[in-house]
Amino acid sequence: MTRLLIVGGSDAGISAGLRARELAPEVEVTLVVGDAYPNYSVCGIPYYLGEEVPDWRSLAHRTRDELEAAGLELLLEHTARRLDPSARRLAVSGPSGADGTLAYDVLVVATGARPVQPPIAGLDALGPGEGVHLVHTMDDALAIAATLSEGAVEEVLIVGAGFIGIEMAEAFVHRGLGVTLVEALPEVLPTVDADLGRLVRDVLEAHHIDVITTTKVTEIRRSGTTLVIHGTGGLERRAQLVLIATGVRPDTELAARAGATLGAGGAIAVDRRMRTNLPNVFGAGDCVETYHRILDTTTYLPLGTTAHKQGRIAGENAVGGDRCFAGSVGTQVVRVFDTVVARTGLRAVEAEAAGWHPLTSASTLDDHKAYYPGARTIEVRITGDVPTGRLLGLQMLGNLATGVAKRIDTAAAALHHRMNVGDLSDLDLSYTPPLGSPWDAMQSAAQQWQRASTSHGS
Ligand SMILES: Cc1cc2nc3c(=O)[nH]c(=O)nc-3n(C[C@H](O)[C@H](O)[C@H](O)COP(=O)(O)OP(=O)(O)OC[C@H]3O[C@@H](n4cnc5c(N)ncnc54)[C@H](O)[C@@H]3O)c2cc1C
Repeated sequence: MTRLLIVGGSDAGISAGLRARELAPEVEVTLVVGDAYPNYSVCGIPYYLGEEVPDWRSLAHRTRDELEAAGLELLLEHTARRLDPSARRLAVSGPSGADGTLAYDVLVVATGARPVQPPIAGLDALGPGEGVHLVHTMDDALAIAATLSEGAVEEVLIVGAGFIGIEMAEAFVHRGLGVTLVEALPEVLPTVDADLGRLVRDVLEAHHIDVITTTKVTEIRRSGTTLVIHGTGGLERRAQLVLIATGVRPDTELAARAGATLGAGGAIAVDRRMRTNLPNVFGAGDCVETYHRILDTTTYLPLGTTAHKQGRIAGENAVGGDRCFAGSVGTQVVRVFDTVVARTGLRAVEAEAAGWHPLTSASTLDDHKAYYPGARTIEVRITGDVPTGRLLGLQMLGNLATGVAKRIDTAAAALHHRMNVGDLSDLDLSYTPPLGSPWDAMQSAAQQWQRASTSHGS
């Protein structure tokens, strides 16, 4: 094998290229990258737009020079148009529109995802120039920054209160703008249980964000310099900037046209070695399905963490390795002002749909010994399977200082190793009074789940 071609230069594509070169420095690795921003941390966009990160250039995980020094050839602003797996050829067009064909021995598709465009009247006719934005790429981020720098924005309306919509709401508040957040579902952050979502909403409202749930935006029109937004339930608002943050769908066009089978969530089907059904074609990141370790089946879970891991495995196997993706347990965390909310594993509703008999217990526990100043409570929700005691999921919410993110990571490790709820109490976790308790909050919550499970079963 002499030439590895990778389509996509973000988390998955770059991880694949770096791993391939690490293992096989003799292999030529070329990345075809649709935009001019290879290896940028799009996860950092809300912090750049909220002016916590002053310079967008610092969002680069690595500079172009560093990537090239690692042996990656970058064809920036090149779009892969057509993949011919039988001839091992990829048709591309460059920035001037000139077409070319690249030969390969092995190819990795890492084309990511595209934002979902909800059915809103008037949306097709409006773009960044009119103040209607998406937030998915560095180009999107720079377009939002340009609209903001024009100085005419006072009010922002965000469609979608998932983790990206919420992070962006905070960013706009940091810039002193009025923010309305509209969500179709009954509560914000629908990836956690509604009672935790309610606490997130309280935080947003305490920062003067107008949160409107159970409401769909149905129409956006421009009236002079203002956008007029209408929605169900009589919603009518005016804003100078509208952000659409209603989720993503896998970008499968290139692979599907070449005959790739699609799987969970319409993403490219891959096996655990990240192989597609096309010969010598691997896939990784937001464009492919994800093996879920607890469900033992594939799902669509587009996350940067997963994209890095899958890309690394695709890169390793592309140069002759034989590594399997261990699977995701769906670990996520988001900071909402001074609050952190996180989840790992399954919620009861998801576990039940998968055939478990789940019970979720709710606990409110101190993050460290109450006698040491500054103790704060953490909300913990543990979900386990009643008949077997198996740990299925954990959700947490607490102040930034309460170590929620690291505690959820302990739970993620427990889920990864298929532990029971009761096993959490056996873990030898760290303790000193300013930071914890002899029984960590997660362990006390586990013991509470066991008590609830016993009385539930009796
Ligand atoms: C605002 C925001 C915040 C986020 N925060 C988090 C977070 O905190 N934690 C987390 O885990 N995840 C987060 N994510 C999700 C995470 O960013 C994605 O899961 C991750 O970027 C996926 O990486 P990827 O390489 O699969 O795809 P993408 O990042 O979507 O990149 C796709 C690449 O493919 C290229 N491409 C596509 N089609 C073609 C083509 N035909 N020809 C050439 N090139 C092509 C694109 O130019 C790009 O380089 C966030 C996402 C956003 C938008």
